[in-house]
Amino acid sequence: MGFAKSIDQLPPYLFAEISRKIAAKRAEGADIVSFAVGDPDIPTPPHVIDALVEAARDPANHRYPESEGLPELRGAIAEWYEQRFGLSFDPETEVLPVIGSKEGIGHVPLCFIDPGDVALVPDPGYPVYSIATMFAGGRCHFLPLLEENDFLPDFNAVPADIADAAKLLWLNYPNNPTAAVAGIDFFQEAVAFARKHDIAVCHDGPYSEVAFDGYRPASFLQAEGAREVGIEFHSFSKTYNMTGWRIGMAVGNARMIDALRRVKSNLDSGIPQAIQRMAIAALEGPQDCIEEHNAVYQRRRDRLVEALRSMGLRVRLPQASLYVWARVPSGFTSASFAERLLDDLSIVVTPGTGYGATGEGYVRLSLTLPDDRLEEGLRRLRGWKR
Ligand SMILES: *Cc1c(COP(=O)(O)O)cnc(C)c1O
Repeated sequence: MGFAKSIDQLPPYLFAEISRKIAAKRAEGADIVSFAVGDPDIPTPPHVIDALVEAARDPANHRYPESEGLPELRGAIAEWYEQRFGLSFDPETEVLPVIGSKEGIGHVPLCFIDPGDVALVPDPGYPVYSIATMFAGGRCHFLPLLEENDFLPDFNAVPADIADAAKLLWLNYPNNPTAAVAGIDFFQEAVAFARKHDIAVCHDGPYSEVAFDGYRPASFLQAEGAREVGIEFHSFSKTYNMTGWRIGMAVGNARMIDALRRVKSNLDSGIPQAIQRMAIAALEGPQDCIEEHNAVYQRRRDRLVEALRSMGLRVRLPQASLYVWARVPSGFTSASFAERLLDDLSIVVTPGTGYGATGEGYVRLSLTLPDDRLEEGLRRLRGWKR
């Protein structure tokens, strides 16, 4: 058998080594507390589940869905953008539901990247941007996200020939894994850069509704001219605790939306309609759950940041996202610190290098573990001695 080169090029699974250790520790009877996964522990709101149950009984939802999604869902997404960001989009041409934003993101490079083409990808970043670029035969030029720049990429640092060659730019705020946020002025800079070098922009915004202390993240599409150069992905996963149901959306530039729809219509057959009905119920129903969940995450954030600081770690207080991005103590690497916490405390954190080379020196901790597990983890962290 001869496999594709891209299969050999896949980076080793982030947790391969850690997973082995966790399994070994569990076999010894250790009680593992994991801060590793970003997957809300709170269930999907009951009214959203009710919509699924009702829709499941309707035979109209038992057949192939249309790949562009139900018109009612596209309409509800456009209405949500209007309510939330004061932006209006044509549900026919500027809105496209996707099978979780990961699917849409994974297929975008097929719309822009020919073999050898360049994509600009944040480092550290959500791994799908670079891996999907590689699957399309493209090359990544990584944009380092540095703490001294508040984890925003410096467009002036991109060499002119690379900027001119680049076809695609990935952005993600509120950011995974750094928890950094970006305002409209940064998005405005991104639009200017994209215009100057004729680059398509994809902003990935699954954490726009997961924010604290009254902070309201901006949409990339609020920047002037953004819809001429880009699209934005949003997800039901983090906003409504729907990671398991697999549904998200892309909104913005009509030509980009059309290209993504054409790629998708040749690869998948749309989102199960009963799940589209859940998404409509989520967008159109009461929104109180968002604030309730954020209050839970904010309390966990405060507890976790306090404990990490008491260990002597340098941590910025996140304004949004589900993560805390902590600087490891001097003398450790991301991997050696993660390993020590696992060995000493049976605590799992994600080494920053799992998201790119520039993640060296950091670990990511997630806020999506139940309160009792969080408290058990904090108890152990506070007692840690190097
Ligand atoms: C969670 C996450 C997603 C994926 O969301 P789905 O809609 O569940 O596929 C996309 N991008 C980032 C940065 C994420 O953290």
